Amino acid sequence: MMDRKKLEERFLAHDFTDFKWLDPQNIVTAQWVRMKCVFGCNEYGQTTTCPPNVPSISECERFFREYKEAVVFHFEKKVDKPEDRFAWTRKINLRLLKLENEIFTSGLEKAFLLFLDSCNICKKCEGTREDCKEPKMARPTPEALGVDVYSTVRQIGYPIQVLSDYEQKMNRYAFLLIE
Ligand code: SF4
Repeated sequence: MMDRKKLEERFLAHDFTDFKWLDPQNIVTAQWVRMKCVFGCNEYGQTTTCPPNVPSISECERFFREYKEAVVFHFEKKVDKPEDRFAWTRKINLRLLKLENEIFTSGLEKAFLLFLDSCNICKKCEGTREDCKEPKMARPTPEALGVDVYSTVRQIGYPIQVLSDYEQKMNRYAFLLIE
């Protein structure tokens, strides 16, 4: 049995203070998101947790509909250089993994995390599931599972926009599915 209040206490204990609950039935998946991965992203085929190493959009949609609760964690950051963001997101992803594990071991067997940024646990991703160095820790991003993060987080009042340069603050999101 899920107790939102108790879960929120856990989020806060891990110093995740900016989050909102989201009905997983309202997670928007779209084919255009996958198209952006296939054409125009240099991580396509290079990382284990990105397309084409992920389920189809319709399978992802089915996956989200299997959950009763989701939490969206919001993170803001401005970086000087694009590559500076990786150290920041890596640290957060590792902290989120600890939280996911704690929630799973508390008895919520479906707990599943979607990373804030592509899995960068290793300095260089091996690129295939067979060669992944930390398969227990690797998780996809919402975008890799076809989530239209823009439409999804706007529904719950979170800010998000296309950025044109690194002078602008990023609004990044991790999702935690729980049941
Ligand atoms: S754990 Fe390492 S090898 Fe596996 S997906 Fe993440 S970065 Fe790639």
